[in-house]
Amino acid sequence: MSKNPFLFNTHDLPRRPGEMREYELTFEEHEVLGFDVLAIAKDEPIDIDIRIESVAEGILATARVQTEASGECGRCLDPVFYEVDQNFQELYEYVEDPRQARKKNKPGKHRPQKSEDEDLDEDLVRQMEGELIDLDGPIRDAIILNLPINPLCAPDCLGLCPDCGVKWSELPESHEHAPSDIRWAGLENWTNL
Ligand SMILES: [Zn+2]
Ligand SMILES: [Zn+2]
Repeated sequence: MSKNPFLFNTHDLPRRPGEMREYELTFEEHEVLGFDVLAIAKDEPIDIDIRIESVAEGILATARVQTEASGECGRCLDPVFYEVDQNFQELYEYVEDPRQARKKNKPGKHRPQKSEDEDLDEDLVRQMEGELIDLDGPIRDAIILNLPINPLCAPDCLGLCPDCGVKWSELPESHEHAPSDIRWAGLENWTNL
C-alpha cells in the first residue's frame, strides 16, 4: 500500500488556542506492523481515540491506540495474541511555507554541525502538512516499541522436545530419546529446519 492511511485532516479544528476536537478512528487497512513473530495483521483494526487541541505553535494530538497483535510462541509455536493499549502525545507545528518544512525536516549538508541534544530536540518536532497531521510515526512507535520481541503463549511455556518436536507439556515425564536410537537418526537435522 503506497497511500499513508494515517494522515488525519484537522480541517474541523478552529485555529484558536484552547479549541479541541475528539475523534474515534478505526484503521482497517494498513501494512503489517510488527515483527515476524508478532505483528498487527494488515486487516486487523487499529482503534484510535484521539483529541486534537489548538495550541500557540500548532496542534497537539493526544491519543490512545488499541489493537491486537498475533503471532506465535517463541518456544512452542502455538498461536499467541497480544493486546496493544498505548497512549501517545505529539505536537505538530504549523508551517508557514511548505518549502521551509521540507528543508527543516530533511536538513541539508550546508547546515552547521549541531550537538546531539539539538538533533534530538529537532527529531521530536513534527510538522503539519497543510491541514494534515501524519499519525503514522506515533502510531507505529506506540505499537512496535511496545510489542514483546519474544512472545510466549505462557510465561512458563516448556517449548518443544528438540528431538521429536512434540510439546513437552504433551509428553510423558519419562520422555527421552536415546542417542543411539536408530528410528530418530535420520530426523536429527530435519527438526532444526
Ligand atoms: Zn508456548
Ligand atoms: Zn522427543
